[in-house]
Amino acid sequence: MQHDRFHGRIAGQPRHCQAPGCPEPGEFRAPGEQRPGFDGPGDYRWFCLDHVRAFNAGYDYFSGMSQDEIVAAQNPVHGWERETRAFSPTAGIDGAPRWRDFADPLDAINQRYRARHPAQRSDGRAVTPEERRALEVLGLPLDANRTDLRSRYSQMVRKYHPDRNGGDRSYEQRLQEVVEAYQLLRKAAAFS
Ligand SMILES: [Zn+2]
Repeated sequence: MQHDRFHGRIAGQPRHCQAPGCPEPGEFRAPGEQRPGFDGPGDYRWFCLDHVRAFNAGYDYFSGMSQDEIVAAQNPVHGWERETRAFSPTAGIDGAPRWRDFADPLDAINQRYRARHPAQRSDGRAVTPEERRALEVLGLPLDANRTDLRSRYSQMVRKYHPDRNGGDRSYEQRLQEVVEAYQLLRKAAAFS
């Protein structure tokens, strides 16, 4: 088996491109149905260059993966994951954060996910990315109700307020975040 490390081509394979009706040899591999993980390296699908490009362009590699699976997929031993868009040298250019912008890869994954997806509560109401961040500030789950919101808010104000801490103002920044988070969520549709 011959690897071309610059293009990801693996020549000399007796495979055909898996794109329907394509007669070209399948010399480029893309992630398959079976994700890499603790059970093994995962499987691949094989395409010609044009079709692997089309596949990469339309495929969100992290879609449907748990955080553990995403972290496992970052393992360099799997090789091709490093070729994906999120890890490419140009990943930061279109405004998307690069992995090295984050101390913890999970922060990057969380942020990437939140930035794109409003969440849905079990009551069907949508929660915007800003509202999700506010819920995190207050340490509340996505399905918190208005009563939870009010009681957590008053609990955290008591905890961080200088009047309750012998005039200690070191929690001022935290208190400010709590107040802003509450102001945002109080007016949010999900809590009306
Ligand atoms: Zn093809």
